[in-house]
Amino acid sequence: MEKREQLYEGKAKQVYKTDDPQLLIVSYKDDATAFNGLKKGTITGKGVINNQMSNRLMQRLEKGGVPTHYVQELSDRETLVKRVTIVPLEVIVRNIAAGSFSKRYGVEEGTPFAQPTVEYSYKNDDLGDPLLNSDHALALKLATPEELALIRKYALAVNEQLKAFWTSCNVTLVDFKLEFGRLEDGSIVLADEISPDTCRLWDSATGEKLDKDRFRRDMGGVEDAYQEIMRRLTSHNEKE
Ligand code: UDP
Repeated sequence: MEKREQLYEGKAKQVYKTDDPQLLIVSYKDDATAFNGLKKGTITGKGVINNQMSNRLMQRLEKGGVPTHYVQELSDRETLVKRVTIVPLEVIVRNIAAGSFSKRYGVEEGTPFAQPTVEYSYKNDDLGDPLLNSDHALALKLATPEELALIRKYALAVNEQLKAFWTSCNVTLVDFKLEFGRLEDGSIVLADEISPDTCRLWDSATGEKLDKDRFRRDMGGVEDAYQEIMRRLTSHNEKE
C-alpha cells in the first residue's frame, strides 16, 4: 500500500492518505501530551507499543463482534485502517473511580462501581472536551439516537471483553476512552486506539499504575510501565 500525503497530524499520531481513498495509514509517535496539550513530553518506545497493543486488542474485539477500523499492521509504528469520519465524542467507560470522576464527584480513587459507567465528552479542544450527556449529544447533532445506542452497546461490549482479557494478564481495567467513526456507508466502527495512553491499567496484585498516569502525574518509570504492560499482553497471546 503506497503512503501518500499527510492528511492530519495529531498529538500522538500522524495520518496519511493511500492510493485507496477508503484506506489510511496511521503512524504512532513517541510524543505524549496531557491536560489538553499543556504538558508535553516524549515516552521513548511508546509509539511502537501503542501501535502493537491497539492492533492486538482491535483484532480480538473484531472477533468478539465489535467492528473496528483495523485492517493490517504494516510496521512497528504503522497500521492500515479504514477511513472514517470520527464521531466527535470521547466515550469513556469506567469500572473503578479515578481521574476526573474522582475529582468531580469527590469519590476516592480506587472505589469500584456496581456496574460500568459510560460517560461522554464533546471532542472539541477549544472547549476543553466538555462532559455531556446523550441529550446534549443529540441537541448538538453529534450523532443520531440510533448511533448513540449502538455506540453505547459497543462500548459496554468492549469493556466486558477487555476486562476479561486484562484480568487474565493480572491487570485491572480501571477505565478507558474510545472513539467511533462512520464508514462511507454510514456504519459505525471502533476507531482511534486502545493503549496505555487511553486506558487506566493497574497491576491486579499491587495496584501499581501501568499507564499514562505515570506521565500525567510525574511518577517516573513511564517507559518501564509501558514495556511491562506490553510484556503482559505478549506473554498472554503466546499462551493461546
Ligand atoms: N482519556 C483519554 N483521553 C482524554 C481524556 C481521557 O484517553 O482526552 C482516558 C484516560 O486515559 C482514562 C479515561 O479516559 O483512561 C478517563 O479519563 P478521565 O476522564 O478520568 O480524565 P483524566 O483524569 O485523564 O483527565
